[in-house]
This record gives sequence, C-alpha cells and structure tokens, in this order.
Amino acid sequence: MKERTPLIAGNWKMHHGGQSGFALASELVAAVGGLDDVDVVIAPPFTVLAAIGTETENTRVELAAQNAHAKLEGAFTGEISCGMLVEAGCKWVILGHSERRQLFGDTNDGVREKVQAAMAAGLRPIVCIGETLAQREAGETMEVVLGQLDAVTDLISVKAGTAAVAYEPVWAIGTGRVAGPEQAQEVHAAIRGRLAEHKASLGAQTRILYGGSVKPENAAGLLECEDIDGALVGGASLKVDSFVKIVQIAREGAERSSAN
Ligand code: PEP
Repeated sequence: MKERTPLIAGNWKMHHGGQSGFALASELVAAVGGLDDVDVVIAPPFTVLAAIGTETENTRVELAAQNAHAKLEGAFTGEISCGMLVEAGCKWVILGHSERRQLFGDTNDGVREKVQAAMAAGLRPIVCIGETLAQREAGETMEVVLGQLDAVTDLISVKAGTAAVAYEPVWAIGTGRVAGPEQAQEVHAAIRGRLAEHKASLGAQTRILYGGSVKPENAAGLLECEDIDGALVGGASLKVDSFVKIVQIAREGAERSSAN
C-alpha cells in the first residue's frame, strides 16, 4: 500500500493567462470537488494567480506559481518574490523546471536559493530535476538527476514531506515521448533512495512526481509504480477533461492501493 497521497499538478506554462484561465480553474474546482484522496495543484501564469486564488480558496484545488525570485523584494524588474506569491494565494511553487534551466539560466545553485526562499515564505516547492537526451544516451542520467537533487536535499529535509520532487526527463517534456513505467520507476527509486540516505523520513514522506507527456492514456501505468506518487502535467493540464481524467486515474490507483 502506498502511504503518500497522490499529487497531480498542472503546469499551464504560458497559456491561459486571462479569462480562459479563470474559466478553466472554475471548471476544475467544480470537477474535482468530490475527488478526495488526491491532492490537486494548478500553476497558472502570474497574471491570473490572484484572481484564480479567490476561486480556489477553500477548495480541493491548490495554487502554484511556475517560478519565483529568491530575494524578498528589491530592484529586480520583472521578478516576483515568494512572499508576493503567498499573498496571491499560492501554496506551492514549481522551481527548477527544465525550461527555466535551459532557457533562462537557472542553475543548481540558483534553484537552491529559490527553494530556500520558498520554504522560508511557507511555500511548498515542487523541485524539478531531469536529464537531457544527450545525458541519458551518455549514461549520465543518475549522476545528473541526483546531482540536481543533492543541491536541495538538506533544505527540503528540514520539513520532510513539505516539498515534492518532480522527475522530468527533458526529452519527454512536450514531445509526446513518455518514459516507460520501468524507465521512470528506476529513476524514482534512485531519487527516493538518495532522499532516504539523507534522512529516512525524507525518503518515506517526499512525493516524487513524474513529468513528461503524461496523458490519460499513459497515466495509469506510470502512477501504479511503487515510487511514483503523482504527475506534473503540462499539455494535458490545459483542458479540463484530460486533467480531470488523470486526477481520476490517480484516485482509482490510490483506492486500489489502500484495498491491498
Ligand atoms: C511540464 O511542463 O512540466 C510537462 C511535463 O509538460 P508536458 O506534460 O506537456 O510534457
């Protein structure tokens, strides 16, 4: 039986930044209202966070930001602090997403600073880690993924279970190429092993999500794996039907697991 509550998080990226985002959030709140036993998080663009925050308040849907700045405030044009995200209604923040690492220069040290700031502000980080195709083909997957994890492990161990880790092989994001359940489970087990080496409770309580082209068609096989506790979903989170189906699949898996 899995002891960790599944977590399904939708990363909207740079989509639904206005009225359509508000409408999607309202539909989701209504659709997942009765789906207990699964934690549901959405990460809309900054521009709609506060408006959606009023819609998701006291509902089963929790709000995440897609990034944050590590400093509390200051002359950082265009940036948003963790405190501001809390004020907008966020409970979570996605940090170290591969698009941030690849396109906006986020490094392991930078992600570490952001995780520290998020936890100090009371936000729960979803820390993304994952290898590129070239790194996988060079046999460097574990070294890369565990190196990215090691950059934040001591920080997230202070309150074990508060942060989530998302294993997102870069070659599977937005490509339609999904890691097979065995491939994903192998890396998830290594991640959990590394967390447990640091502190047993960190290994036992941290939710490790899989991300990379998760859809209703492939979610069940992934979510059944022992060390996969949920999903970080990009494309399929942009429509209410596909996202809710993934939440339902996670719930059915949790029910099956508690019956065993
Ligand atoms: C993501 O953006 O984190 C992601 C996993 O995207 P997609 O599901 O579209 O691959």
